[in-house]
Amino acid sequence: MMFKQKIGILSLGCPRNLVDAESLAGRLRDKGYGIVDIAKSDTAILNTCCFIESAKKESIDAILELVDLKKQGKIKRIVLTGCLAQRYRESLQKEIPEIDAFLGPPSLNHGAGRFPLTKKHFAYLKICESCVHNCSYCIIPKIKGKFSSLGLDSVLQKVSLFNREKISELNIIGQDITGYGLDLYGKKILAKALKKILGKAKNIHWVRLLYLYPGKEVEGILKIIRDEPKVCKYIDLPIQHINGRILKLMQRKTSKSDILRLIDKIRKVIPEAAIRTSVIVGFPSEKDAEFEELLTFLRQAQFDRLGAFIYSREEGTKAFDFKGQLPEKTKQERFDRVMLMQQQVSSALNRKFLGKTIEVLIDERQGKQYLGRSQYDAPEVDGQVYVNSKRALKPGDFAQVQITDTLEYDLVGTAVEKEGRHDEYCQ
Ligand code: SF4
Repeated sequence: MMFKQKIGILSLGCPRNLVDAESLAGRLRDKGYGIVDIAKSDTAILNTCCFIESAKKESIDAILELVDLKKQGKIKRIVLTGCLAQRYRESLQKEIPEIDAFLGPPSLNHGAGRFPLTKKHFAYLKICESCVHNCSYCIIPKIKGKFSSLGLDSVLQKVSLFNREKISELNIIGQDITGYGLDLYGKKILAKALKKILGKAKNIHWVRLLYLYPGKEVEGILKIIRDEPKVCKYIDLPIQHINGRILKLMQRKTSKSDILRLIDKIRKVIPEAAIRTSVIVGFPSEKDAEFEELLTFLRQAQFDRLGAFIYSREEGTKAFDFKGQLPEKTKQERFDRVMLMQQQVSSALNRKFLGKTIEVLIDERQGKQYLGRSQYDAPEVDGQVYVNSKRALKPGDFAQVQITDTLEYDLVGTAVEKEGRHDEYCQ
């Protein structure tokens, strides 16, 4: 097929960034461009990320790799988009003249269908951009601007597109989806939107909610999560810390008692739910005792999934100027202690699955086994299930898997019943 031009797109960072890249690829495809591997492209588009230091470094390294490809004549043009391109456009243009162009962020409400850049059987639907909060360490509201929700009609149109694609899993995302609707409808309407989304997702087996700010809006959707079989019993609740003084310095609108009460409520309403959280260690002036308080809390709270971040001092944020910036060594030590503790927690929690049969979404084949996920595992960030199966399975299939072994973060099992495409489940 003759394309206008061959374009390669590499998306770094979070699923929200990926949605932007997939929508860009979808619009380029609709305009007659071929979407190919970056190394085989005429024009390479890099969708960058810069929310913390390590993400910036990853983006810069990727740019320099493209510069090498261009110098070798393998690609003709380099185009940058995404957060790093937006935040550091001038200095990037000056320091890396091989960059040919910069693309601004796509609008949230573009009509085009996506061009999947990762696996085809699951997708992300970004229902809002930027954030209603203003955490003192976070640069995102500065990069992304004013909080904006995608109109509910447009949300439902996109769900219908995914429903027609018969994807197996739809992940609803934003910076904080609990703020959904505040700008357009004057109030937060995630619960209402979720019900309407489920009504349009007849062919989609799993619907997962990601990035729920731990506020009262979460309580408003617990019953829907509990009562709707399609909705994964998975609560993604970034708390960032537990110590009152640090939460205040972070400008988080939650207190220790709020967080404890919410976790308790979740476990009462949906006892089998997996709770994922993320925390920041080494925040400016974090005392030993405050870190110990966090570590003790995490050990007691027994989160099913935990992401930990080392505090990254970001210019343009309020916390950048806070006193008591900690040495990298201290921050790293605290990070290592949290991860070691969570390894033990996760290992113990995984043992409860031994002998149980759970539903697993197959993501890919790996040698003689298949790799999949349970409803308690979000794509790319959580654990996996290694599946042994006599019969062939395909990405997007669901299998009933009996767990025969448990690892720190992953499970191992054998497919027990007739495997079927998810449309056999979606009655
Ligand atoms: S809620 Fe998340 S995205 Fe919003 S300001 Fe805080 S850290 Fe940033």
